[in-house]
Amino acid sequence: MNNNVQDPIAAMINQMAGKNPKAQMIAQLMAQQARQGTGDPGSIQNDKTKGQTKKLLNINLELKKKIQKLIKEKKQILNYLDFFIDVNAAFSGAVGACECWGGDPDCEKCNGKGEPGYFELDQEQFDYYIKPSLKKHPSLYHLETDGEKVTDTTSA
Ligand SMILES: [Zn+2]
Repeated sequence: MNNNVQDPIAAMINQMAGKNPKAQMIAQLMAQQARQGTGDPGSIQNDKTKGQTKKLLNINLELKKKIQKLIKEKKQILNYLDFFIDVNAAFSGAVGACECWGGDPDCEKCNGKGEPGYFELDQEQFDYYIKPSLKKHPSLYHLETDGEKVTDTTSA
């Protein structure tokens, strides 16, 4: 008889929980609590309620930890992103490319034409990023393009 009265409540709680596993677990605990509510009152009931409360608190703690971890990861990703945006700006300037590297036809700065050499080189960035590499690998400094020899036009 008792179950007939309680089951609709459990069913309703389950329905409200939807397909979220954590919400379903909470719904199960609430349904258990509802069933026990009419059964044996007293210390056993209190112990079970305490146990369920502890479970819910643990779930809550677990979720808080996950959120903290995600916030920390988001900060790290944003820091990486800032770093790479800066490096991209400096390096594209060093080779006279647009920051989109000519890959974005909708780019307001270059209309997708900003491949390396399209703009004036940023001398400071060139000296920092490119020159040391060319000095260590001088054979790369005299490149053949369409049969013409490209030589150093900047002061060494
Ligand atoms: Zn561009």
